[in-house]
Amino acid sequence: MSLVPFDFKVDDSRHERASIHFVMRRLLCWVLILAGTCVAQKPAPIAAQLDAREQQLEKLYADYWRMEYKIALGESNLSSRPIQEQIRTVVSDDKFLVQLKKAKFTDPLLQKRQKLFLNEAVYTKITNDPALTAVVEQVTNQDNAIRYKVGDRSLTRAELTDLLEHNPDRRIREAAWRAETQITKANGDHIRQAIRLRNDLASKYSDEIFSMFMLHRKGLEVQDLFSWFDQIKEQTEPEYQRLLAQMRKVLGVAKIEPWDLDFYFANFTQSFEAQKFPVAEGWPKAKQLAQALGYNLDSVEMHDADLGFGGAAYPVLYGKEAKILANRYKGIDYYDHLFHATGHALHYELMDEPSYLIRANYAEPMDEGTAQVFTLQLYRPEVEIKTFALSPAQARQMGTSYRLRQLMEVRGTIADALSEFETYGDPDQDPSAVYNRIHSQYLGVDMHDEPVWAFNSLYGSDPIYLQSLVVGDMVAHQIVHHIDQQYGRTWGKAAGEELKADFFARGAEMTIDEYMKKGTGEALTPRYLVRFLSGSLTLQ
Ligand SMILES: [Zn+2]
Repeated sequence: MSLVPFDFKVDDSRHERASIHFVMRRLLCWVLILAGTCVAQKPAPIAAQLDAREQQLEKLYADYWRMEYKIALGESNLSSRPIQEQIRTVVSDDKFLVQLKKAKFTDPLLQKRQKLFLNEAVYTKITNDPALTAVVEQVTNQDNAIRYKVGDRSLTRAELTDLLEHNPDRRIREAAWRAETQITKANGDHIRQAIRLRNDLASKYSDEIFSMFMLHRKGLEVQDLFSWFDQIKEQTEPEYQRLLAQMRKVLGVAKIEPWDLDFYFANFTQSFEAQKFPVAEGWPKAKQLAQALGYNLDSVEMHDADLGFGGAAYPVLYGKEAKILANRYKGIDYYDHLFHATGHALHYELMDEPSYLIRANYAEPMDEGTAQVFTLQLYRPEVEIKTFALSPAQARQMGTSYRLRQLMEVRGTIADALSEFETYGDPDQDPSAVYNRIHSQYLGVDMHDEPVWAFNSLYGSDPIYLQSLVVGDMVAHQIVHHIDQQYGRTWGKAAGEELKADFFARGAEMTIDEYMKKGTGEALTPRYLVRFLSGSLTLQ
């Protein structure tokens, strides 16, 4: 018996449709009672409670994201803390959690939702611990407040970064790089305290140390992750050594130092960049590229703003409402951040899963991967020539510049992530020694025993997140390879349909590996990222 034909005749308000469904369900129930099966059809009370709590969470999170969006846009008198408190109340009600844990569901979807809710509760208990939030708030405030002393100048983080990227005087860049240690002096001990607290809380509420709890929550296994990192390092080593040799030649130095890396790439920038990538054209171009795939971004709210972060997408209501903020960068930097945020927004808008927790608890690397699939379009020579009016030579130059920068950044991010895992594994070690040893190996530069590690603000504010960026790049290159095989290098609506069905509409129903196998025909692999980074498969 199907309700669908009946449903087609009803085209009034959602409320009326819902009540007609209710009547039909009751009717169905009576029919089934006669057949002796209605008891099995009636949802168990605990499942109904789970439904209700998920709906509450969806509504609270919508309020939370709308509020955060306003705060980021400058309404600093607002606070999302009361909403966070309400979310905590819904998620960590111990009486409900005990019942939920005991429940024996047979429906795989309910089993999945049960697991996600229980995990969400543990996560909330750890991250909302008052002692931990106080330490993290202190770290974040210090990050925002610090001014870096370089010579007789006092610089913000953005100014320090700008100096490292653009100042041609190598001694000044060295002083700027060494100035990064100032934030470690201010924050290092507090971050170490947060690490110990997170480990203690994780062992209190789960049976894992914090880093492993988080990694599993994000859908990854540590053995796989470390093996991918090893493969990426080993297989991109020859190309990375070539890059370092090229840097030495261009900069005219015998040895590349940490204060040369960003400078080299910032000065790779092309004279045509400002002209071909004007800020005002960014959002229309993003919409145009989405349109080519059959996606409509008209309902997505987007604003430029001065932000403490690169840019962001806000998943207000999955499948219905997403918002974007872009920081006021210039040229290709602006486009890169905006396209990444747009990729996230597409994931949130196109999401089509049956319950809030399944929609919201996608594996983080899948989300980063979908964002990067859209970003990679920006660097395709075909797209640059057609949409941005670059000459073939300019498009080739952009592609190479992007690839080499990614080569350094992916290796640097792996080093960031590995340092973090090692520090959580043994918080008594000196984090600076760990960080410098691993960064020397991955970036091929001497770190001069300088404690610069706390300059990476994610260690304080967003722990065990960095690996998702690297795995997200693996996901993206694997998807791009697969779609190219099916549809060629110029994607249209058919490619968009497949991307949507297999990736952009997907949440937490399956594991990353299951999604990748179903969508691309093979398990998640670093092969396509490595091919791209090592230049054997270029974007040209
Ligand atoms: Zn992202």
